[in-house]
Amino acid sequence: QRKMSNEVEKASKSHYNNGSETIFDKIIAKKIPADIIYEDEQCLAFNDVAPQAPVHFLIIPKKRIPMLDKCEEHDKDILGHLLLVAKKLGQSKLPKGYRLVINNGKEGCQSVYHLHLHILGGRQMNWPPG
Ligand code: 5GP
Repeated sequence: QRKMSNEVEKASKSHYNNGSETIFDKIIAKKIPADIIYEDEQCLAFNDVAPQAPVHFLIIPKKRIPMLDKCEEHDKDILGHLLLVAKKLGQSKLPKGYRLVINNGKEGCQSVYHLHLHILGGRQMNWPPG
């Protein structure tokens, strides 16, 4: 059996909780600090506290969307916006390339139930991911 990483362990203990408040709402409200690298009306980007690559940041919608599975047709604009912001930040900070990840649900290794894009880079990324 493969060893469970810390991140997998965290995800296994977390679960979708009816769209209730998460730590990311507190970051959006500036109630707890984060290393914010970009902000606009719709989204916020900040460095991950437990980076998995030399550069690892998250882009989150300010709207509380718990996970990709809970997205609806009317979230099309914000979803597109998150990708365009990922492109803008990725292109400028990681001109040699970068990886985008969305973890969804327990087996997808999601631990915070507020939708987020991971942007990773600054080294050669591997494939397939674990
Ligand atoms: P997930 O496993 O849900 O896809 O990713 C959640 C990510 O959020 C993890 O990479 C974790 O390190 C990061 N994270 C969790 N809590 C905080 C926090 O309070 N601040 C920051 N900056 N990142 C966090």
